[in-house]
Amino acid sequence: MKTADYIELEEKYGAHNYHPLDVVIDRGEGVWVYDVDGNKFMDCLSAYSAVNHGHCHPRLINVMTEQAAKLTLTSRAFRNDKLGQFYQTLAELSGYDMVLPMNTGAEAVETAIKAARKWGYQVKKVAPEQAEIIVCAGNFHGRTTTIVGFSSEAQYKQDFGPFTPGFITVPYGNAAALADAITPNTVGFLFEPIQGEGGVIVPPAGYLREVERICRQHNVLLIADEIQTGLGRTGKLFACDHEGVKADMVIIGKALSGGFYPVSAVVASKAILGLFRPGDHGSTFGGNPLGAAIATEALRVLVDENLIDHAAELGNYFQERLAEIPSPHIKEVRGKGLLIGVELKPEAGGARRFCEALQNRGILCKETHQNVIRFAPPLVITREEIDWALEPITDVLNME
Ligand SMILES: *Cc1c(COP(=O)(O)O)cnc(C)c1O
Repeated sequence: MKTADYIELEEKYGAHNYHPLDVVIDRGEGVWVYDVDGNKFMDCLSAYSAVNHGHCHPRLINVMTEQAAKLTLTSRAFRNDKLGQFYQTLAELSGYDMVLPMNTGAEAVETAIKAARKWGYQVKKVAPEQAEIIVCAGNFHGRTTTIVGFSSEAQYKQDFGPFTPGFITVPYGNAAALADAITPNTVGFLFEPIQGEGGVIVPPAGYLREVERICRQHNVLLIADEIQTGLGRTGKLFACDHEGVKADMVIIGKALSGGFYPVSAVVASKAILGLFRPGDHGSTFGGNPLGAAIATEALRVLVDENLIDHAAELGNYFQERLAEIPSPHIKEVRGKGLLIGVELKPEAGGARRFCEALQNRGILCKETHQNVIRFAPPLVITREEIDWALEPITDVLNME
């Protein structure tokens, strides 16, 4: 079968809820992927920052295959021998007391919402059914009905209502607007330290610190969605670390398993996650031994290979080189670490055609928000690999 045959099969039997580039990948190694016709591409999306360790990291292959041959799923009705070490590794690395494991990012966001509401009623003493959570315009927190209900993206919500009440939207990057929106019923502020899907939007310097101050002042939980920005992507363990901000709850997913398996988690203090009682919340697959073993090893690889500092250093390098590219189409190059957005001018005709041209030159990127090309290669990328990519990128950004 050739590329066209695979695409035809997918289009015939699969729901069309994505618009992928027409490349059918069947193998990956490090920053490189290969398609069914034998072409080689540099992966500059990393599955939306899930494949931070590079494709098919050997240590993760080993742990996954060994664990899969031994024990995969017990459910939480019983204990398993891999969960405790996963909790400990994540808690010690992140500096939080407790962990609640789930599978996908959206489930971890839902978990944080439930935790914030429970804390609001039991600790802050908000009247029953009155809890409010403040979110930001331009957010992306996942695709469940509750979460899309507070999206500001029309298409994410179109024909999916009615939605869950209790969410208030404020402009992103505007701390005064947050302060104005807080009421005695506000239990949490849910935000991304950099909006990834929103177009790699970096808030003004000092915003996160100011938001932390406001939340502390009003006894509102600071809830950081670091699913895309966390675990080294921006050159720090968490993107909040760039401003020395410690959120009350951090939501992580994607790279938590190095892209091998869906593993997500909420980390927080005992004062928050300690409020859950048996039966309050759960997931059949959440905390399973296969996912826990892989995630534990993925966290160890992050440390052993010094991927966080590496992302900081090479992210700076890549961003500087991109900013030097003379191009009539570029409006702005921005980002932190290896989460980089190149925003094109409105008259450039949209980022999609540039992503298609990059594909023809052996680089896979995805447009985000019409006019932004996101460059987010696996954190294991080398300086030589970045240098290789700059020529095709320069050519494509100078096409008609
Ligand atoms: C990807 C993402 C999610 C959703 O994660 P899923 O695993 O797709 O459910 C939530 N928040 C942010 C910031 C993300 O980038």
